[in-house]
Amino acid sequence: MKIIAIGRNYAEHAKELNNPVPGVPVIFMKPETALLKDNKPFYHPEFSEDIHHEIEIVIKISKEGKHISEEFAQNYFEEIGLGVDFTARDIQSKHKEKGLPWELAKAFDGSAPISSFVPKTQFADLKNISFRLDVNGETRQQGNTSFMLFSFEYIIAFVSKYITLKKGDLIYTGTPQGVGKVNIGDRLEGYLENQKMLDFVVR
Ligand code: MG
Repeated sequence: MKIIAIGRNYAEHAKELNNPVPGVPVIFMKPETALLKDNKPFYHPEFSEDIHHEIEIVIKISKEGKHISEEFAQNYFEEIGLGVDFTARDIQSKHKEKGLPWELAKAFDGSAPISSFVPKTQFADLKNISFRLDVNGETRQQGNTSFMLFSFEYIIAFVSKYITLKKGDLIYTGTPQGVGKVNIGDRLEGYLENQKMLDFVVR
């Protein structure tokens, strides 16, 4: 399986990092070894002093597809979960300055905590799902899919023009504003609507 992630999919987040709002989705990937399941602790890597949390809604691809049209993209995912796209912002900033790829900042072990998944039919409107991240009991990030620049369907159509999507692939769909540093000892709790999906600590 593969993990595809969308950068700058919420305008307010793009602005907080002084990035332009993109005209097409910004895509990057993480390897399977980035996944962190079952609320296992996240071990803060030594190579970064500025690991940021990015809470994101994650869609799970339910069948193989290539050149999927936006109209039919809804048939390619049945479940939704919540994930964190941990980012070594110090490394990413240096790489962005030099125009280098982002993998060292984005793809490291444990950089993709993932919740269990719930059926998308649980939500009355996929374009109006709220989600949030609390750190040590305080809300740090709050988002709603109504603010996404590119919808789930658009993302699936766009990505599948270039990369065949397979059953079980995950797409991290971008983070809202409020990203920030995590520290050893922090407790992160993520909610989809009011359902707690993530609850883990940084070690
Ligand atoms: Mg992200």
